[in-house]
Amino acid sequence: MDQPNQSYSRGSQDKTLLAMTIGQAFDRTVAQFPEGEALVVRHQQRRYTWRQLANAVDLHARAFLALGMQAGDRLGIWAPNCTEWCISQIASAKLGVILVNINPAYRSSELDYVLKQSGCSWLVCAGSFKSSDYHALLQELKPDLRGIISLDPSPPEGFMPWSQLAVLGAGVPPEQLHARQASLHFDQPVNIQYTSGTTGFPKGATLSHHNILNNGYMVGESLGLTAQDRLVIPVPLYHCFGMVMGNLGCITHGTTMIYPNDGFDPLLTLTAVAEERATGLYGVPTMFIAMLDHPRRGELDLATLRTGIMAGATCPIEVMRRVISELHMGEVQIAYGMTETSPVSLQTGANDDVERRVTTVGRTQPQLENKIIDADGNTVARGEIGELCTRGYSVMLGYWNNPDGTREAIDEAGWMHTGDLATMDEHGYVCIAGRNKDMIIRGGENVYPRELEEFFFTHPAVADVQVIGIPDERYGEEIVAWVKFHPGHVANELELQTWCKGRIAHFKTPRHFKFVDEFPMTVTGKIQKFRMREISIEELRNDR
Ligand code: AMP
Repeated sequence: MDQPNQSYSRGSQDKTLLAMTIGQAFDRTVAQFPEGEALVVRHQQRRYTWRQLANAVDLHARAFLALGMQAGDRLGIWAPNCTEWCISQIASAKLGVILVNINPAYRSSELDYVLKQSGCSWLVCAGSFKSSDYHALLQELKPDLRGIISLDPSPPEGFMPWSQLAVLGAGVPPEQLHARQASLHFDQPVNIQYTSGTTGFPKGATLSHHNILNNGYMVGESLGLTAQDRLVIPVPLYHCFGMVMGNLGCITHGTTMIYPNDGFDPLLTLTAVAEERATGLYGVPTMFIAMLDHPRRGELDLATLRTGIMAGATCPIEVMRRVISELHMGEVQIAYGMTETSPVSLQTGANDDVERRVTTVGRTQPQLENKIIDADGNTVARGEIGELCTRGYSVMLGYWNNPDGTREAIDEAGWMHTGDLATMDEHGYVCIAGRNKDMIIRGGENVYPRELEEFFFTHPAVADVQVIGIPDERYGEEIVAWVKFHPGHVANELELQTWCKGRIAHFKTPRHFKFVDEFPMTVTGKIQKFRMREISIEELRNDR
C-alpha cells in the first residue's frame, strides 16, 4: 500500500517477474510464433521470422563457442544499429557472455578506457561509421584482445570477418550450446553499459538477465505489446532504450523489431513507420521534434501508429501533444529511468488521462519502489522536492570492478540514488524537476561536464576549464565550455573544436566556447555554474 503522506510509492504486484534467462525467453517466443516476423533491418534489407532469427542466433552462438568464449567473458560491441548487433546480443546472452555496449560515437580515448576497464577479450566492430574508420583506429590503438570480429565484408588483415562465424558455428554441435544454456542462471551478469552515473567518471553498470529481461517485459506490458505489434526502433542499441526497451520489450512479446537505419534519420524513421505499417515508435524528445518538423512528413501515412515511448530527457508538453495529434500516437507514454535501473522505473500508462501523460513521468513500474528524499535521507512529504531513489529487481548488480562507486550509488537498503530531483503527487505521479548531478543531456546523449573538463585539461594551452549546458530548442541542451589559458597561450574556438575531432565523440564537442580570465566564484571559492549558465544564455541570446 502507498504511504499516503510520504513521497513513497510501490508499483503493482499483479504482474509477475519472468524467472528465466534471456536465452530461455527468446526460445519461448520462437516456439510460440515461429513464422511471425521478428526483425526487419531496413538499411541492410534483411527480414527474419522468429524461426530464422533463432537459426542465425544459434549458429553465431556456436561460433562464439568455437572461439572459446566462456560464461562471464566480456565481448565488446562497437557498431551502430544493425542485424549483427541484435544477433550478438542474443547469442552472447545464450552463452552467459557479458556484452559490453560501446557507443559508436566513441573515439580512441573513450574506446581504450572502456575496453580496458571491462577487460574485454573479444570485440565485434563495424568497419566504419559516419566519419570514423574503426579499423584504422583499432590498428593504431592495438587493444589487448583475443580477437576482433569485423562487420566489414573484407576487413584488413588481423580482423576476422563476421561471415567466417557461420563456418565456425557449423562445426560446433548444437548440444554444446544447449549444455551451456542449461548451466546459466538468470541472476548472472549479461551486459555492461558505461555511464557516468551521478559523478563524472565512466562506470560500467553491470546488469543481469533478470534486470534487463524483466524491464523490457514490463515496458512492453505497459504498452500492451503483442505479436501483432510492429515497433520502429530508431534509438541506439548501445543504450538500454534500444537493446532493453526495444529489443527485449519485443522479444518478450513476439513483437516485430524494426530498425529504420544505422543512425537516427527523421525521414527514414517516418518512412519505416509508413512502409512497415508500424504500430509503435520510440524516441528521445529531440528525435520526435525532428520527425514532427520534417517537411515531408505530410506525404507519409502514419495512421497505423498506436503507441510508443518518449524518454531519456525532459519531454516537453507541447511535443507530447503534437506526437499524440500529428503522429497519431494516441497511446504514447513517457518513461523515466537510468541505465543503473535497467532502465525504466516510472512510466505513464495507457489508462492515465492525457494531462498526466504529457506532464508527468508517470507512476512506479510494477514490482518496483520509488521514494523521494531530502538531504538527510528522510522521505519528503508529497509535493515536496527531493532526490528520487529506486529499489527493486531493476537495480543493477553494481558498477564493474568498482565497489566504491557501487556503494556511493546503492545504499545498504538497496536503494539506487538517481541524482535526479523530483516531486510525487498524492496519486503517485512523479515530475522530474531537475538534476543534482552535473550532467548535460544533448539530443538524448548524456554528456558529463567533469569528463569533458578532464579531457580539455590535456590540451597544452588550457589552464582551467568549466563545462556547462544551456537550454536549446532542438537538442534540449547545448554544451558551452569556459576556458582559461596558460599565460602566453591562446587557441580559438575552431582550433579547440578541431582538436576534439577524433579524440572524443562528436556529440561531446562544445558548440560554444567562452574565453575568460576568471570564473564566477562564491566567497568560499566554489565555482558558480548556475551563474555561468545565466551569463552564457544571455550572451548567446544577444548574439542571435
Ligand atoms: P541514462 O543512464 O543514459 O539512461 O540517463 C539517465 C538520466 O536521463 C536520468 O538520470 C535522467 O536525468 C534523464 N532522464 C531519463 N528519462 C527522463 C525523463 N523521462 N524525463 C527527464 N529526464 C529523464
